[in-house]
Amino acid sequence: MNDDVKAEIVTIMRDNPLAMDMAMDANPVDLVKRAISSLAKKWIDNFIRKAIPVSDEVADKTLEAVDRGILASARKDSLVINLQWTDAMLQKRDAIIAENVAYIRSIPEQYFTEIEGMVYRAMSRGGDRKKLADELEAGFGKRHGITRRRAERIARDQVRKATSALANARQRAAGIKRGIWQHSGGSNKPRKKHVHAHGQEFDLEVGLPIGDKGQYVLPGEEPECGCTWKPVLPF
Ligand SMILES: [Zn+2]
Repeated sequence: MNDDVKAEIVTIMRDNPLAMDMAMDANPVDLVKRAISSLAKKWIDNFIRKAIPVSDEVADKTLEAVDRGILASARKDSLVINLQWTDAMLQKRDAIIAENVAYIRSIPEQYFTEIEGMVYRAMSRGGDRKKLADELEAGFGKRHGITRRRAERIARDQVRKATSALANARQRAAGIKRGIWQHSGGSNKPRKKHVHAHGQEFDLEVGLPIGDKGQYVLPGEEPECGCTWKPVLPF
């Protein structure tokens, strides 16, 4: 996406002799505006088309991983766990996919908002055409890194969150009602309340009242939370 957008926008800048006379002629701005809006449409459509199959696959793989974990610990305790799909799990899966799709869509949307800002800021400053094209080229290079890191952060956080949500639904379907909070210790900025929650028992349906506004949260539910839980076996 970034390569495509960069090639098109930088080419307009380099090839259009009017592009530097912004103040006198509105046409170059229109040209860039049209190019950005058709690129945005093309790439947002591309992302949306791929978002559902990708999210489907991630949800299924996450569930497989969750089931493998649950089966392994059940075997260890000589338990038989029923791995049927329940309505609650199907709902959870749909909710996870919908959230993923929204996040995937936000990646090109945010990218194009920033690109627009960057290009218009550069154009309104005006100046030497070659310098401006070079400056934009460098700007696109930086954007690539920022967008990639954002996408990676979203992917990591969504997989982690989906794993917690599906494990929770699976355990409840298997008759497990309570868990013991395990603080991960993995983050370099741990939430105090989560550190404090370590070892506390909670209802798997609601969690503990340790949200930022005192609301109930489950381990792994808040952004970048790596906390997990030990299921309390009712047997
Ligand atoms: Zn946490």
